[in-house]
Amino acid sequence: MYLLSLNIYLLFSLSRSFINTWYNEKQNFKYSQRNINQMEKKINKIQTTKQFLKEQYLADSRPWVVTFSGGKDSSTVLHLTVEVLLELKDEGKDSKTVYIVSSDTGVEMPVINNYFFKKLDQLRIFIKNNNLNMKVQVVSPEVEQTFWTLLLGKGYPSPNQNFRWCTDRLKINPATKFLTSISNENRSILMLLGVRSDESQTRAESIEKRDRNHRGLVKHDTVPNTFVLSPIKDWTNSEVWDFLMMHKAPWGNHNDMLSLYHKGSGEADCNIALNPEAPSCGKTRFGCWVCTVVSKDKSMANMLQNDEDRWMKPLNDFRNDLEDYRYDHTTRQDRRRNGQKGIGPFKMHIRQKLLRKLLTIEKDLLPKLNGKYLISNEEIIQIQKEWLHDGDFFETAISIANDFNRDISHSSKKAFSKEERTFFTSLSADKGIKIQLMDQLLQTEHKYRHQLKRSGILMDIEAVVEAYALGKLNEI
Ligand code: SF4
Repeated sequence: MYLLSLNIYLLFSLSRSFINTWYNEKQNFKYSQRNINQMEKKINKIQTTKQFLKEQYLADSRPWVVTFSGGKDSSTVLHLTVEVLLELKDEGKDSKTVYIVSSDTGVEMPVINNYFFKKLDQLRIFIKNNNLNMKVQVVSPEVEQTFWTLLLGKGYPSPNQNFRWCTDRLKINPATKFLTSISNENRSILMLLGVRSDESQTRAESIEKRDRNHRGLVKHDTVPNTFVLSPIKDWTNSEVWDFLMMHKAPWGNHNDMLSLYHKGSGEADCNIALNPEAPSCGKTRFGCWVCTVVSKDKSMANMLQNDEDRWMKPLNDFRNDLEDYRYDHTTRQDRRRNGQKGIGPFKMHIRQKLLRKLLTIEKDLLPKLNGKYLISNEEIIQIQKEWLHDGDFFETAISIANDFNRDISHSSKKAFSKEERTFFTSLSADKGIKIQLMDQLLQTEHKYRHQLKRSGILMDIEAVVEAYALGKLNEI
């Protein structure tokens, strides 16, 4: 009886352990099978997308434009496109040009700027070494339309949701101009965008509701004869990340981008803004460092948590000052630029103060900026033209810049000549009247030059003299 019980016990134990092992193995097999299936699904998706791109490339003679922001989605599209083009080249079918178009607003976050220009250099070298039919084009705003020309030159208050004057000027117009020119040259172009449905419900709806032709192309709203293709619109976020992590970029690698994302930990990338389904610029990751459209620059705040990026803090402080000044009406003129009464542009002395502050920050940070100024000499000259228009006959912008060793040799016929400046300086010394007072009086008079009714001028002159007497000239 004892032996029988022992046998039953042993048999039972053995069966249990066998069943356990069998069950575990079955589970492991199930999991690894699931992994393999998932992996296969991803590989298939990559292959399908590449095949789709290949067919699209061969379907007509339209040149392609890949808008490249350096972010994960546009990097994925570019990566796939380059791989397809390499294959087509081997087959002798790479007859049409692929343009890589990127936007440089002039106020990109320096860390992003450094990464971005390094990436474009890598791409240029790769294209050259592989003799690929690709061209890299960086589009930027005209000097009359840059952020600093408008803010410091014309005195525009820093942008906000209600007065967002920047996106068109800094991003949309320069890109539209370039795309229109190649579209006109070639009669039509195809733009490849890195938009995806799973970025948000709104994005999905927006992508879904657009009319597509039989090839899946959407007509661009504003650029003539331009079609849009979104090759990764059905990719999920994790498929994009897996792709970037498991596939080395043909031109180098994606590690630097992955690390930027890790440090910035934001959401979507701020694309070239020609994307019909793009989220509103300014709410996105890695926008301009001066952006006051968002109440807080989260990506900059995240960056500043990292020891190696903390040097950008003065930029963030400056951005916060811009925001404060915007809402402090004592910094603003009481007339708009069109002459109507109302809260107007920044006062001249505020613009001068901001220019000086910007150049001070730039001087301190220059070793970190890889030789790229925060504000260019061309912009300073343009700012001077705007200030001259506002009565700055002493060319203060140029002299402020030259205090920071910019060595700009620009002078306008409309500004005071050397002799006139000497005259005012000696007058100031003889009569004990500060040159700033004369400057301010001249600006006041200049303000009225186009007005038929000049009755307010006496009161304004009186206000300037009174402020001077009280030592508050800078507050005017
Ligand atoms: S990121 Fe901000 S400042 Fe730059 S263009 Fe967009 S809204 Fe304007």
